[in-house]
Amino acid sequence: MIGTSVLRQTHVLMLQDDHFQNLECNHSFKEQEFISVLKNCNSIAEIKQIHAQVIKLDLIWNSLYANNLVVTCALSDWGSMDYACSIFQQIDDPDSYVFNSLIRGHVKNMNPEDALYVFDEMLERGVVPDNFTFPILLKACTNLRAIKEGNQIHALIFKLGLDHDVYIQNSLINMYGKCKEIQHSYAVFHNMEERTLSSWSALISSHSGLGMFSDCLDLFRGMNEDGCRKTDESLLVSVISACTHLGFLDLGRSLHAYLLRNFSKLNVAVETSLVDLYVKCGSIEKGLSLFDRMNVKNQLSYSVMISGFGLYGGFHEAHKLFVEMIELGLQPDHVVYVGLLSSCAHAGSVELGLEFFDRMRLEHGIEPTVQHYGCMVDLLGRAGKVKEAFALIEGMSMEPNDVVWRSLLTSCRLHNELRLGEIAAKRILLLNVGDFTMLSDLYARNGMWDDVAAVRKEIVEMGLSRNLGKCTVEMKRRVYAFVSQDRSHSDSSRIYEMIHQMEWQLRFERYCPDLSQVLFDVDDEEKRQLLSGHSQKLAIAFALLNNSGSRVIRIVRNVRMCGDCHAYTKLVSMIYEKEIVVKDRNVFHRFRDGRCSCRDYW
Ligand code: ZN
Ligand code: ZN
Repeated sequence: MIGTSVLRQTHVLMLQDDHFQNLECNHSFKEQEFISVLKNCNSIAEIKQIHAQVIKLDLIWNSLYANNLVVTCALSDWGSMDYACSIFQQIDDPDSYVFNSLIRGHVKNMNPEDALYVFDEMLERGVVPDNFTFPILLKACTNLRAIKEGNQIHALIFKLGLDHDVYIQNSLINMYGKCKEIQHSYAVFHNMEERTLSSWSALISSHSGLGMFSDCLDLFRGMNEDGCRKTDESLLVSVISACTHLGFLDLGRSLHAYLLRNFSKLNVAVETSLVDLYVKCGSIEKGLSLFDRMNVKNQLSYSVMISGFGLYGGFHEAHKLFVEMIELGLQPDHVVYVGLLSSCAHAGSVELGLEFFDRMRLEHGIEPTVQHYGCMVDLLGRAGKVKEAFALIEGMSMEPNDVVWRSLLTSCRLHNELRLGEIAAKRILLLNVGDFTMLSDLYARNGMWDDVAAVRKEIVEMGLSRNLGKCTVEMKRRVYAFVSQDRSHSDSSRIYEMIHQMEWQLRFERYCPDLSQVLFDVDDEEKRQLLSGHSQKLAIAFALLNNSGSRVIRIVRNVRMCGDCHAYTKLVSMIYEKEIVVKDRNVFHRFRDGRCSCRDYW
């Protein structure tokens, strides 16, 4: 109970305010008046005055007054959940409206656990939850990734016959998706009589969150075919990011055009995802021009652009943006530093890289992650400081991952560091064909033919000989995939004919197939044939046959490119006057005029 001194104090406060003075004089507080006073309230101090007044007039026992006080306190931006709960304790028979508001207030204030406690109390006190209770409650479960509670709530929804409510269904799709139970999301989605934009959006963003990007695009197509022509910006961010991950630039571009036609203004999240699309799909100029034209840029926008320069080695540009973002008062995060460090690695700026590595911790309080160490190993390794790179790995506070060891192996191959190269290869857990090629290269350069043979044997034994590279190339909004020695394509004979022509031309440029890249024990002629059938060459041949008009060929591959394909692609870019952009796991190779942007280090 509130003491008389407090009441007197509030009384004085009220006298200073004309609005409340009137109430004081009337000695009553009509329901309508009360509601309108509450509506105009905009601070917790004012709520306290009204609360005091309600107690003074002995109206707190009237559920209308108490309920509305709780709801206003719980849901206003300036509200206080503590105060809302304290008033709530004084209500004898709270109804579902009050419970729902408290649950909503807790979720809004990032306390989803408390929201579940309130729900328990609701059930204990025999208040039946309604269609407003469940969407927000499921949101609490989603935020907590509490699938067990979510399942129980789903069962209750069934029991209460609310399973056909579209808002509840959408919340269920979202909850199951975020809790990685995508098959349950599907089940709810399939059982819906009517699907709204939110239903599609929940299902698509769930797939995006699980990295199921092809499914995202299939669903987006399905959504259009289903007649759901509306779309919103958050859904588009999911779809654009699916294109980005899959490297589907043309499709992303047509989405961009669609956005420009249908939205007068794009929000910063959509614009940033478009910048990311262009940058990651190999069109940094387009990404930069879009970035420059953005009216509002946030931390993520800078992060995306700086990472882009990290991929392409635009050190000066990355540095300039870094300075700009600091000046704007935006805090760089660990992603920004990954971009900066990798741009230093590309530029060979060891000193600056080390300086940024220190600044990251000392100035911005970011502890280096395994990714930052990967960049540093790359930086030192490229510059020939392989021993320093190894020392850095040994001093890491966490377990180095495959990326770190692979960076070291790459440097060892480049600088012919046999001993450290062997150590690195032994530490890579998931060796792929590319790693074996690097190791066998290293042995071959040191004349260790028995070891070369042993590596080849291991590849066959591990069944990796079948797991050769796959390349995709996008043409007229369709994606074509090629595996090595692929003859399944309907245009196969023309493709091999083109390969033959290309090689003939390449020979004039003194191209000589690098047979050491073939790790199988076959004769030289067969090696030559195996090399010609590498998926990247098939993809290039196909692209040259089919997009004579376009200046750029874009290829995405799943494993590291072999040295022969690299040399071959450089020459093709010169002879056919095409720019060939190859995304090779996490590196971009941009082949132009017989050179590659990676400067032969990858
Ligand atoms: Zn190859
Ligand atoms: Zn390259």
